[in-house]
Amino acid sequence: MNNIELDERGLLLPCPQCGQRNRMNYERLERSFRCGKCHSELRGPGESLRVKTEALFNALTSRAALPVLVDFWAEWCGPCKMAAPEFDKVAAEGAGQWLVAKVNVEELPGLAQQFRVSNIPTLALFQAGREVARQSGAMPAKAIRQFIQQNQSAGAAYESHR
Ligand SMILES: [Zn+2]
Repeated sequence: MNNIELDERGLLLPCPQCGQRNRMNYERLERSFRCGKCHSELRGPGESLRVKTEALFNALTSRAALPVLVDFWAEWCGPCKMAAPEFDKVAAEGAGQWLVAKVNVEELPGLAQQFRVSNIPTLALFQAGREVARQSGAMPAKAIRQFIQQNQSAGAAYESHR
């Protein structure tokens, strides 16, 4: 888990075939591309991304060509822990279609304050730097997926980055 690192420009994703780290720029995440070393086809990440700083959160949500589902959670929150495997399932299903990002509100209290997150878990969907939908409370993977599909506007994030 969590083999994927974030930086200001994109994701650093290990190739499942050869282990080579490849950079996927946020703006290009909706396209598949080939590993720089072994040329296997790579696509967007199939696991939850752990966001460690506010700067990375802003880079990810404002520039990603895919919708970003953010899970606001904390270590002490039992329902958050129960929901974590559900987010991981949704992340696996969404490879190349959407991203799932985890924000620990104790590590990043500024973000929790900025987005007025008062209950956790809270999930919020970001597209092209804007929050487009939000829901509080733990949900099964199926409901999380529906939440994304009902609230994303197809192609909007991509259009705005051309
Ligand atoms: Zn490779």
